[in-house]
Amino acid sequence: MDTQTLLVYFAKASYLLAAALFILGIKRMSSPVTARAGIKWAGIGMGLATLATFAITGVHNVGWIVGGIALGVIPTWLWGKKVAMTDMPQMVALFNGMGGGSAAAIGAGELLKFSQPGAPVPPLATLALAVVGALIGSISMTGSIIAWAKLDGRMDKVFRFGGQQALNFIVFAAAVLAGLALVAWKLDANLVIVFFALALAFGVLMTLPIGGADMPVVISLYNAFTGLAVAFEGYAMGIEALIVAGMVVGAAGTFLTQLMAKAMNRPISNVLFSNFGGGGSGEAIAGAQKPIEAADAASLLYMAEKVIIVPGYGMAVAQAQHKIWELSQALIKAGKDVRFAIHPVAGRMPGHMNVLLAEAGVPYDLIADMDDINPEFKTCDVAIVIGANDVVNPAAKTDKSSPIYGMPILDVVDSKQTIVIKRGKGTGFAGIENALFYADNTRMLYADGKEAANQLIAELKAVEGGGSH
Ligand code: NDP
Repeated sequence: MDTQTLLVYFAKASYLLAAALFILGIKRMSSPVTARAGIKWAGIGMGLATLATFAITGVHNVGWIVGGIALGVIPTWLWGKKVAMTDMPQMVALFNGMGGGSAAAIGAGELLKFSQPGAPVPPLATLALAVVGALIGSISMTGSIIAWAKLDGRMDKVFRFGGQQALNFIVFAAAVLAGLALVAWKLDANLVIVFFALALAFGVLMTLPIGGADMPVVISLYNAFTGLAVAFEGYAMGIEALIVAGMVVGAAGTFLTQLMAKAMNRPISNVLFSNFGGGGSGEAIAGAQKPIEAADAASLLYMAEKVIIVPGYGMAVAQAQHKIWELSQALIKAGKDVRFAIHPVAGRMPGHMNVLLAEAGVPYDLIADMDDINPEFKTCDVAIVIGANDVVNPAAKTDKSSPIYGMPILDVVDSKQTIVIKRGKGTGFAGIENALFYADNTRMLYADGKEAANQLIAELKAVEGGGSH
């Protein structure tokens, strides 16, 4: 066996090992305890697959490839190190867009190569998959860039005009027709360009009307698209590592999108085609919100035995996680049973609250998922809701006219007392009123999340000290 054949075998074996590392990495990402290691494992797999590719016969322009890798790795490494937790969704959007773009670029390269005069005619399956991968990758790239711009506040959250859905349909149909023509009729360089222009334009058009806050679901969907595009291009080029990596990303993205949609009780079509959060209807709520001062809230906490803390998007905005953990530690020290309740779509990205609480150092065993903690609210003396709104809105269970009807919620309404920390009477993501805030046993502590937590820590000390401070 010559050296070259040996190298190819080595590369193929490395791909297999890389695939195993991707899958084991994803498995480890399913728990916060092992997630960091999971990311490292998958990263090592990716590094291995990249290195192994250099061993394959016919890799030319090594200088360009290494230059491209450096151009991709160095700035993103630096950016990833310093990005704020709240800016994570937009960073993921942009990185995902680059993945889709890379798959589309591979497709473009292959299609342009096939369309050269005298080039050998590729097998039909290869050609078809290159086209499908290029279509999906292009949509994912421009769609993700628009998602990034919306999340980063660089463009209007919703961009709608009359006949938009019809235009979107026409552009999509034209892109599909151009793709079909490339496969079944003529591999022409000009047609390749028209095809890409239409596919890229469709990614923009499809994302423009979707509300800014729905972007995390859309990014997850585009993530699935990117995975599929990579897998198709991997097939077209005959690179197993790309096929496996793409399928893993595609499957993970699809599951995540489904999970998010299920946790919001909204079909994907509702995310893509409705203007959610623009202020819904729902039954009118009687009564008034009852404010409370931090000192009185601290007294309630002092008397409680069991306290459940429910964080939401406002905690992320206020960056109050460290202070809330400080407050929890004071309560635990005072002998209270303290737990954190996490709704699967609290915040604005999957795992948002888990990440923030982990950053603040909250032990994982104090954090409970919705299904585990819900029965506990009945025996909870005081629930502290910090910056959460939709995920604790009882209308989801009782009001059929509410836009969030059917969404599973945290049953905070069952607890004996509730203290809600928020700045004012602002609505949440769904843009609707919340009956919990008007309940007889709910008190509103109007303040920025971090400020309120600070006040509660000070007041709790004062109560424990047995007097004024
Ligand atoms: P919501 O967006 O429903 O509510 C957040 C609340 O936080 C607001 O009512 C606001 O009230 C308050 N708030 C804002 N800033 C501060 C601050 N600095 N200090 C204190 N409070 C503040 O949050 P939830 O977490 O309850 O719900 C998440 C929503 O996002 C759900 O509807 C979910 O479907 C949706 N979503 C979630 C995704 C995910 O992956 N997690 C993805 C896409 C959507 P005020 O202005 O009065 O302070």
